[in-house]
Amino acid sequence: MLQINCPFCGTRAEIEFTCGGEGGIVRPLNSEAMSDAEWGDYVFMRKNPKGLQHEQWRHSSGCGRWFNALRHTVSYRFEATWKIGEPIPAQFAAEFAAESAAVVNEGAAV
Ligand SMILES: [Zn+2]
Repeated sequence: MLQINCPFCGTRAEIEFTCGGEGGIVRPLNSEAMSDAEWGDYVFMRKNPKGLQHEQWRHSSGCGRWFNALRHTVSYRFEATWKIGEPIPAQFAAEFAAESAAVVNEGAAV
């Protein structure tokens, strides 16, 4: 059985978790100025890579908290999990540099 590491509770069975889709998507600050096409891209368009993907997961049958994960879409292997608001683990920071900058900027704007 697949095991997922909840950053709050530790390693638990996959059946306790729910996938929330792609992670690292930052809501635009100027949505009123966006065209319908730009808004549509934000709402509907996802990367869907073959390989490592940044996702958001929820420990729905455990602590109920959301967290970030890096999961390989072919092997289903989880490479890392970390709390919302924390930076991407250092060993993956270069590969996901754009998302890391967006998350940092989002945190600064709040
Ligand atoms: Zn948990």
